[in-house]
Amino acid sequence: MQRTFAIIKPDAVAQGNAGAILAEIEKNGFKIIAMKLMHLSRTQAEGFYAVHRERPFFNDLVTFMTEGPVVAMILQKEQAIKGWRDLMGATNPEQAAEGTLRKRFATNIERNAVHGSDAEETAAFETRYFFNAMEMVG
Ligand code: GDP
Repeated sequence: MQRTFAIIKPDAVAQGNAGAILAEIEKNGFKIIAMKLMHLSRTQAEGFYAVHRERPFFNDLVTFMTEGPVVAMILQKEQAIKGWRDLMGATNPEQAAEGTLRKRFATNIERNAVHGSDAEETAAFETRYFFNAMEMVG
């Protein structure tokens, strides 16, 4: 069993798509280990996306991620990291496969509905950044 860190981003929460995304998570066999609704501060979002600090879209990305509440989660399944990224689809929804969350719910390459860790080390960092042990079940 593997765990990954996931976010339902502000665009999806604001559009009322959090429930549909949670339904897909359950339908696809992920176990929700931790979950909370939160409105990130700029400092919190900057820390979360620190690896992207030098990217030209960093400032816009932080503004987007702080515009409204997000749902942060830890998901568990066999090969959860790859499985969740497959379910999310490509970063740019124009390139996302049919049936993926980004194909269904993303607006553009920035406002793309969901986040998922891309490797074990990032999953460990992101999980610890958002949750402490008492917020996890199992
Ligand atoms: P991910 O792992 O698929 O989320 O993609 P990345 O790690 O490359 O980028 C992180 C996030 O930054 C993406 O999910 C988007 O919200 C945003 N992003 C990525 N590329 C671009 C871009 O070219 N322009 C803008 N404005 N945002 C981007």
